[in-house]
Amino acid sequence: MEIKCPSCKKVNSDSPECIRCGCELNILIAILQAAESEISMGKAKLLGGEFQDALEHATQSWNLKKTSNAAKLAFLANISTGKYEEALKWYLMAPGRNLEPRKNEVKLFA
Ligand SMILES: [Zn+2]
Repeated sequence: MEIKCPSCKKVNSDSPECIRCGCELNILIAILQAAESEISMGKAKLLGGEFQDALEHATQSWNLKKTSNAAKLAFLANISTGKYEEALKWYLMAPGRNLEPRKNEVKLFA
């Protein structure tokens, strides 16, 4: 797993400490792995039709690391239970989302 050192911004791969400045990365790696694990469990719940559980895993992951995968999972869990306004909030929070409206994009809540 690649991880960017919070101190010097060096990208490290599979190292418990930063190869440039020696900053300890173990805790960050554990947090990222826990966030990914929550996504995996949430996906399984979503596929199994357990949408509330999927949303809880997505939220747990989001609280650990704000990723687009966590937001997407929460979006899908909310869509699946008909909570469209909650789904829209997650859609808008997704990191890396293109903020410019795309051509032909339909505005649902004008
Ligand atoms: Zn560093």
